[in-house]
Amino acid sequence: MNEIKNLEPQIVWKNFHALTRVPRPSGHLEKVQQFLLDWAAAHGIEAFKDKGENIVMRKPATPGMENRKKAVMQAHMDMVPQKTAESRHNFETDPIETYIDGEWVKAKGTTLGSDDGMGVAAIMAVMEDDSLEHGPLEALITADEETCMYGVNHLAPDTLTGDILL
Ligand SMILES: [Zn+2]
Repeated sequence: MNEIKNLEPQIVWKNFHALTRVPRPSGHLEKVQQFLLDWAAAHGIEAFKDKGENIVMRKPATPGMENRKKAVMQAHMDMVPQKTAESRHNFETDPIETYIDGEWVKAKGTTLGSDDGMGVAAIMAVMEDDSLEHGPLEALITADEETCMYGVNHLAPDTLTGDILL
């Protein structure tokens, strides 16, 4: 088994694997923004892009838990694009080539993007998993954290409605 999408917990790894297929170097986020919006639509999750280029998602509470505090889960969508001198990888067009090396998940000749792809994948897992019981949920997936914190710096004060930021 050398496919990371089969690792456990599978609901997290399959989403991380999907993210590695989408180019998302800081400064070039159109593809990953569209990917996240399409993913949310396919899963019946409310989602939009705000003025700060962030993607915001919302999921209603499990019935009976509407009065709980609303949690906001935050991660950033961009990754640091670094590669070896020999690599011909194009971060704006090519998927990351992942592989499993013993206990580690690695990328061939490039950064892996686990920072913060695993954070985004964990958020997607919580948003997707209908077996979880939870209060109202919000996700804030920010733009260009690794360069200038563009997304957070352009987040309008009324975009989020949650009580607790994770
Ligand atoms: Zn980071």
